Amino acid sequence: GPGYGVSMQVTQSGKLTNVCYDIRGPVLKRARQLEEAGHRILKLHIGNPAPFGFEAPPELLQDMIRNLPDAHGYSDSKGILPARRAVVQRYQDQGIAGVDVEDVYLGNGVSELIVMTLQALLNDGDQVLIPAPDYPLWTAAASLCGGTPVHYLCDEQNGWQPSVEDIEAKITERTRALVIINPNNPTGAVYSRPVLERLVEVARRHGLLIFADEIYDRILYDEAAHTSIASLAPDLLCLTFGGLSKNYRVAGFRSGWVVLSGPKEHAESYIEGLDILANMRLCPNVPGQHAIQAALGGHQSIDELVLPTGRLGEQRDRAAKLLNDLPGVSCVRPQGALYVFPRLDPQMYPIVDDARFALDLLEQQNILVVQGTGFNWPAHDHFRVVTLQYADELEEAIGRIGDFLETIRR
Ligand code: PLP
Repeated sequence: GPGYGVSMQVTQSGKLTNVCYDIRGPVLKRARQLEEAGHRILKLHIGNPAPFGFEAPPELLQDMIRNLPDAHGYSDSKGILPARRAVVQRYQDQGIAGVDVEDVYLGNGVSELIVMTLQALLNDGDQVLIPAPDYPLWTAAASLCGGTPVHYLCDEQNGWQPSVEDIEAKITERTRALVIINPNNPTGAVYSRPVLERLVEVARRHGLLIFADEIYDRILYDEAAHTSIASLAPDLLCLTFGGLSKNYRVAGFRSGWVVLSGPKEHAESYIEGLDILANMRLCPNVPGQHAIQAALGGHQSIDELVLPTGRLGEQRDRAAKLLNDLPGVSCVRPQGALYVFPRLDPQMYPIVDDARFALDLLEQQNILVVQGTGFNWPAHDHFRVVTLQYADELEEAIGRIGDFLETIRR
């Protein structure tokens, strides 16, 4: 019979038909080739703090190293208890009531938990409301799990706050969940309390689960205040996601969590499903779990980094200002997270294919960014800049983006 001989194609499954994750897509591949050919590429494409001189907080490393001799076995499939207790404590302090260690699942980063929690929920064709622009894993994971991502608009004119009207307009009988990314990647928006209250009201009225991706909840600028949406919705089933990758700059530890809050008595079947999936992956990486307690209980060095005089505060300031100074470029000043999402005036820069735009920028100026459509933004008029590079490098990169824009200006 036929084997996998030279003439046989091995094709990907149909499950991947609508699955797309451009942050590590074709433009990055080309950047790698250019780098191998000796070019210096200025990387503004990925939210990974480590390569830009951000060190892991020493107390996290110490705790992980101290525990390493006892971290070589599998743990409970939800994760080790001291870490889950620390997570419970943290959300109690944040005003989310009635949560205990059984409601906490640790994961190999938030990424694994996004897939797990959607996988346990969605039947084919179930709809999930996801912001546009979004962190594209949400859209990709909803599709992979057989769901249908439905994008609601965030309003650039209104500081990128989600449009509650658009959400309402897009709810159908098949809508199961509302995804909220706050602080937002890629826009840097931090949602106001009145908007969050309206979102809760909509979810309540339509019986939606709330998935709150709050992985940037301690990366806040200008004294922006972050509210966990679950703290406003004690009567709704909420899943709140967080982790160590960003707030503690240890993305490589692959350490994250999801916390279930609200009335669990109506969700027994769903929770059983989650438990099956948690058991199937055996457990998350155990050494990474040992950093959680030290991180949540200790000194929060992120608080200094986000000050106007701190590295992150200064870089975000510089990037937003320099981008706004370019002709035909405007951006909302980020209130949180690690990104700016500038708009290109389509009259001045008539871009028809923004992936091509990102590729041309890379070829001509050796600057690596991700195009707006990579975040499920519907128009070809945005791109994302990561503000992790040192301020001087950001200045050089944005200067070169300006030079490139000159060449395509109408
Ligand atoms: N959620 C958002 C909004 C993110 O930006 C990221 C990473 O960039 C993740 C989740 C995934 O993080 P983790 O490293 O915990 O998998």
